[in-house]
This record gives sequence, C-alpha cells and structure tokens, in this order.
Amino acid sequence: MSVPFVDLKPLENKFHEPLSQTIEDVLSRSIYIKGSYCADFEANFAEFCQSKYCVGCGNGLDALALGLLSLGIKEGDEVIVPANTFIASALAVTKCGAQVVLVDCKKDTFNIDPAKIEAAISKKTKAIMVVHLYGQPAEMSQISDIAAMHKLFIVEDCAQAHGAKFNGQTVGSFGEFGGFSFYPGKNLGALGDGGALVTNSSEVAEKAKALGNYGSDYKYHHIYQGMNSRLDELQAAVLNVKLKSLHDVNEYRKIVANNYSTHINNELIVTPKVTKGVDPVWHIYAIRTAYRDELIDYLKKRGVDYNLHYPIPIHLQPCYKNLGYKKGDFPNAERISETQLSMPMYYGISIEQQQEVIDALNSFKI
Ligand SMILES: *Cc1c(COP(=O)(O)O)cnc(C)c1O
Repeated sequence: MSVPFVDLKPLENKFHEPLSQTIEDVLSRSIYIKGSYCADFEANFAEFCQSKYCVGCGNGLDALALGLLSLGIKEGDEVIVPANTFIASALAVTKCGAQVVLVDCKKDTFNIDPAKIEAAISKKTKAIMVVHLYGQPAEMSQISDIAAMHKLFIVEDCAQAHGAKFNGQTVGSFGEFGGFSFYPGKNLGALGDGGALVTNSSEVAEKAKALGNYGSDYKYHHIYQGMNSRLDELQAAVLNVKLKSLHDVNEYRKIVANNYSTHINNELIVTPKVTKGVDPVWHIYAIRTAYRDELIDYLKKRGVDYNLHYPIPIHLQPCYKNLGYKKGDFPNAERISETQLSMPMYYGISIEQQQEVIDALNSFKI
C-alpha cells in the first residue's frame, strides 16, 4: 500500500456539491473583487479566531507584511523571528524594510525558545514574531511576559495553525495581529492563493485593508503608497464553505496524530512533544531521527511518502547571507533541519494508511 504525504481529494469529495454550487453563485453574480463573499468570510473567520476584525488579502506572506506595515514597522526597526520556520515569516519582515533578528528554537517543540529571546532584543527591536509551527502554538505565556516587559509588539504567524489553542485561547488573538495563509494544503485551504489577518485593533484592521487596496481609503483617494493584495470573491466563497468544517478537519488530524503518537514505538524515532496547555491542529506531524537518510530510504521502499520542514534553516539560506549569520549560530534549528521528517497527515487518510505509516516506522532498523 502506498501512502501519499498529502491528498486533497477526500476533502474535495466531501465538499464537491457545495463548492460547485458556490462557484456557480459567484459566476452568476459577476462580482469578483471586494464583494459580499469576502465580507462574509472576514466576519466568519474573525469569529472563528475569537478576534474582532479580519482582513482578507492575497496570501499568507502579504497578511504578515500588511500587518507589520500597519503597526508602522519600517527600515531601521528589528523584528525577532524564529530560526526554524518557513521563509515567508522572515520575508514579511524584510518586505517592510526592517531587519530580521533570529532566535533559536527548542528541539522538542520546534518553536521559538522563550529563554533565548531577551538576548536578541536591542534598542531597535519593535516586535517578536511568533510562528505556531506545524500547528503547535508557541509558549505564549512566557513570550507575552517578555514582550510586555520590553514594550514590544507580538505578531503571530498562524499560517499553519488555524484554530490551534494555547490555554483555551485561539492563536491569532494573542498579539497585535495574526497572519493566516489559505494555500491549498493548509488546514483551511482555498482553491489557489489566499490569506487574511485577524486583529482586535480597529486601526490595524483599517490600515491593513487600505494598504492591501492601493493604500486607498475611498475610491481613487490614496492615503498610503499601498499594494494590491486582496482576497477575491471566488476564494472567499470557497473558504466560507470550507470554514464550516474546519473544526471537523482539525479534529480528524488530532485523531491521526494521537494514533501515530500512541503507536509509534521505535527507539530510533522521537515523536512530537505537546507541552502543557497546548492544543495543536497538526498541520504537520513531525518526527525526529538521527538516522534520517536511512529512514527515508526505507520509507521509499515501503511506499510511504514524507517531507522535510525545512531542510535549510533561515540563517543558512542564500537570500539571507546579508544577515551575517553562520553555521553553528542556531544549533537546535540546524539539528532539526538535519533530523526532522514530516509524516503523511491530511483529512481522510484511512485507518489502513495510518497503520502502514506506523508499521513502517516501527519496523525500521539500522
Ligand atoms: C504557508 C506559510 C506562510 C506563507 O503563506 P502563503 O500563503 O504561501 O504566502 C507563512 N508562514 C508559514 C509558517 C507558512 O507555513
């Protein structure tokens, strides 16, 4: 039996009828940008995230950049970003002209290490960007204390964590804003690119909305030198349909993760740790092993697909040479890039396929 890393078909099949219907509806209205589907989705997603406002935009990277710009983050400022994340977290800071300052992560939770944040704070630091990586919330109590003490903004990259909770509170509602991606493979995915930010600040919401619409407050009147990044009607309509089942989709992933963590039992493999108060949504189920190359060869033979998140940490990416970091600067992020392996995880993965993943991992020897 082969097990793909991700298969979007089961979810598409589940939603085929309502999705086709909503696409027909959008076509029949002939309004494709800035219509009522986007407004509806923004209201619904804000509520889902326990936030007052939501602003739809073109993708997750833009959601983060628009949020940072709305806070006034600019050239000369520094923003703290975890060294173990997808490149977009850092690129959003760079897009605003601000400097990325990296902090190492914890080996077992993969998220930013709160104990290492203070050493990275300078007079120029304006914000801490937390990334709820793999769908697992960062340690928000400690991070909030540090941010309050140093009067820094917290901003949240929630692109992998739609609906994840820390001490019962939904991610995206801890900081000044939370940026989300609706890339098709995310827990809530569109049929193309899409993104949004959620916030409790009316100023951030208004400014982000204007910045993503050519800096315009009303038609042909431009108060900012903005950009064009909007959530179109077709994607918003699709997201409205899928949002209704996001809770069920997340619950499905939790059951799969629980099955994996309960039954994977091989001393060569470390399963993901879930710390106290954390309710993850398992965008990615990440294991670690010191024998990754050997395990990959074995999984290939068994037909079990996998992925790496991420093979090169931010500080070793060619595009960030200018930051001046070198190998050895963030040992945990580096170790994760060498030992982490993402296992099949998606809505609709069958019991048999889950068992195949478990059996493959448990029978791996060196
Ligand atoms: C996917 C992702 C993004 C970017 O989202 P896009 O919609 O692809 O621009 C940002 N941060 C993280 C952690 C992501 O996984």
